[in-house]
Amino acid sequence: MTQLEDFAARLKTLTDGRASAPRLKDGVMSLALDVAGLSPEQRDAVAAAIREGGLAVPGVDDVRIAMTAERKPLRIVAVASGKGGVGKSTLSANLAVALRRLGVKVGLVDADIYGPSQARLMASEDRKPQARDKQLIPVQSPLGIPMLSMGHLVEPGKALAWRGPMAGNALAQLIEADWGDVELLIVDMPPGTGDVQLSMVQKHKPVGAVIVSTPQDLALIDAVRAVSLFEQTQVPIIGLVENMAGYACPHCGEMSDPFGQGGAEAAAGEMGMPFLGRIPLAIDIRRRSDAGDPPAADADGYGATFRAIAEKVAAWLEGRAGS
Ligand code: ADP
Repeated sequence: MTQLEDFAARLKTLTDGRASAPRLKDGVMSLALDVAGLSPEQRDAVAAAIREGGLAVPGVDDVRIAMTAERKPLRIVAVASGKGGVGKSTLSANLAVALRRLGVKVGLVDADIYGPSQARLMASEDRKPQARDKQLIPVQSPLGIPMLSMGHLVEPGKALAWRGPMAGNALAQLIEADWGDVELLIVDMPPGTGDVQLSMVQKHKPVGAVIVSTPQDLALIDAVRAVSLFEQTQVPIIGLVENMAGYACPHCGEMSDPFGQGGAEAAAGEMGMPFLGRIPLAIDIRRRSDAGDPPAADADGYGATFRAIAEKVAAWLEGRAGS
């Protein structure tokens, strides 16, 4: 192997596959570097490392790097609720599956560090993320969705004692992992509207947020709190999903509405945000989601319910392409 070939091979690891094969002519090495999604600091660091490595190759007097932005930058959609138990994690998992079925290159982060459940919902509990250069590499769920959860990293219940900066750092590790060609990261937020949530939103700047609520008034009051967290930080709300809306009888399929109907849609209207859809309280959704077999993988039934919501989210993102 010539030293140029040796350098070309090292370039792959050095740039995480972002560089083209280097060419050498009249002492000038030239190559293209895909810098999409990198911060200016990361960009400079990679370019400096290439330059240093390139100049060490005999016969190279100069290194020219053409920076391009081929990869689409990673965009984050936060799925949030004002309190726990409303189905935020169930929706995040099924939304990710439904978006993937629509052809979106989607990844999933379980930011619910105090009660991570995505490893179970996506049947990936047995998979352990690796790290390269201090960056985590997501695991693949059986449905082909790259994902990371605190549940992959620590024993259940361990993160419970974490507060403030420690929780924030753990979250940053998940979000700043090596997401490869993922274009859209669904982030299952920790429930509630405290400091951990606020600093996550400020630091990682989601392009938009999906708010989950149940039909009860109390949960809607919590939803209003979640909305104001995003408003404070200028993150647009994509819309509200009403979960556990009406009860689907497992025997006859008949719907009943113990909490009344239309409350969440009306509340969304009053708050001036789009209504993305309602998901019934159904034993099948609970059973299958909790067993790591998300119903969004189906073409019909509840699969269609989740797909309709995913289509609205995808359309919203399309309208914001480039933002
Ligand atoms: P959160 O993330 O808001 O705490 P989860 O997604 O963990 O809530 O849901 C709480 C429980 O409710 C889980 O057992 C889940 O399977 C169940 N669940 C969520 N949505 C539905 C639904 N539409 N129908 C039936 N059970 C549901």
